[in-house]
Amino acid sequence: MVSSEIRNLIDRTPFVDTHEHIWEETTRLSAPTGDGGRQPIRDFGIFFSHYSDSDLLVAGLDPKERDKIGNPNIDVDEKWRTVGPFYEKARHTGYLQNIRETVRMLYGEDDLREDNYRSISDRLAAMIKPGYYYPILRDVANIEYCQVNNLQTTIFMETQYPDLLCQDLSFVALSTGLNIEAVSKLANRDVKSLKDWHEVLDWCFATYGPRAIAVKNQSAYGRRIDYEKVSADDAVPLFEKYLANPKNLPMDELKAIQDHLFHYCVEKATEFHLPVKLHTGYYAGSGGMPLHRVRNNAGDMCELLKAHPKTPFVIMHITYPYQDEAIAIAKHYPNAYVDLCWAWIINPLASVRFVKEFLMAAPANKLLTFGGDYIPVEMVPGHAQIARKGLAQAISELVEEHWIDGAHVPALVARLMRGNAHELFDYEGTLKNWKTPSVVKKEPATVG
Ligand SMILES: [Zn+2]
Repeated sequence: MVSSEIRNLIDRTPFVDTHEHIWEETTRLSAPTGDGGRQPIRDFGIFFSHYSDSDLLVAGLDPKERDKIGNPNIDVDEKWRTVGPFYEKARHTGYLQNIRETVRMLYGEDDLREDNYRSISDRLAAMIKPGYYYPILRDVANIEYCQVNNLQTTIFMETQYPDLLCQDLSFVALSTGLNIEAVSKLANRDVKSLKDWHEVLDWCFATYGPRAIAVKNQSAYGRRIDYEKVSADDAVPLFEKYLANPKNLPMDELKAIQDHLFHYCVEKATEFHLPVKLHTGYYAGSGGMPLHRVRNNAGDMCELLKAHPKTPFVIMHITYPYQDEAIAIAKHYPNAYVDLCWAWIINPLASVRFVKEFLMAAPANKLLTFGGDYIPVEMVPGHAQIARKGLAQAISELVEEHWIDGAHVPALVARLMRGNAHELFDYEGTLKNWKTPSVVKKEPATVG
């Protein structure tokens, strides 16, 4: 197969998108409520509202100026004056390449410029209608379905579209970022002991587990992922101390509670046949990443993989910039899977190198090749396009360099883009457990 045939095949093959944070569509249909935080705005500023703004800040944009981007009350002319110069300074990064892919795929424009930011904003706003997620994700991005870690909720989103936006069960509030108040309210139970809390966790898994596609934890943003085995007997007095006064607990005792609960949740996930997705590697945002902690992620993972040999773990974001370690882990541990989610836009060329080297070292069924990792749905098709470009380059180079035989490419592409995800995650089984699986008519006319 020559490279144009490989690219063609990859363009035609749908992705299973294994990681997103996409808001519920109802959030996008409602008007923005204020100017704080991340807002569902309806102008070109949304392209700079997630990830891209970090590159602008690192290029020199003042953080106070950045806040204008997501403010629905500031007009687009002022927003363009704010971001335009910094967009030019950072335009070659993966995050900002995605803006060009996005405007190309959704609006037929080759770039975002002074002469089109207004019309693009108008078209973006006009596209927001009931059901518009389907054409964007299925028709434009050629995605079969997405797996969503919804950040609007504590544990699990009762999504409007379970067939399109499969949901992760987030176990942060249950373990490493304890939120006893919110979770016990959901479960409608008083928590006076560790036994009570275990019952609340059991309730969460019984209630959401059958409809979840996986469990997810991103506590690597706040601590090392060196989760030690702490027995319930050892955790009981610490948990009681925590309940009496959470603020007075020394760090090592708080860590012991988190560690105990983390393993408890991993065991529950395994009981419900849910793969465990863990954030590893690079941090979103700017100006805060402790790389000395991040570089321990891969080593810390090994202990978890050994402690739960029957549990599939998904090592997210290829542990960038320590992706060589991720390859070594995937090669060595049967229960380790690596996900390129987010990686294609963090560093597109590192991701191309990674795919080539991964396939030469680890079994191909251990790799998941796409997750957009976005909150705004509009940014997903562009990211999928960058991933397709990179995947095609990696596989074409392997064929040209005679590392793989072109005859094996069709099976490899099918496996990497969707087959592996279908083997690892039970899409059909999960869908059956929703009472009202959504069936929404496609409205292809709304996009293009
Ligand atoms: Zn994410």
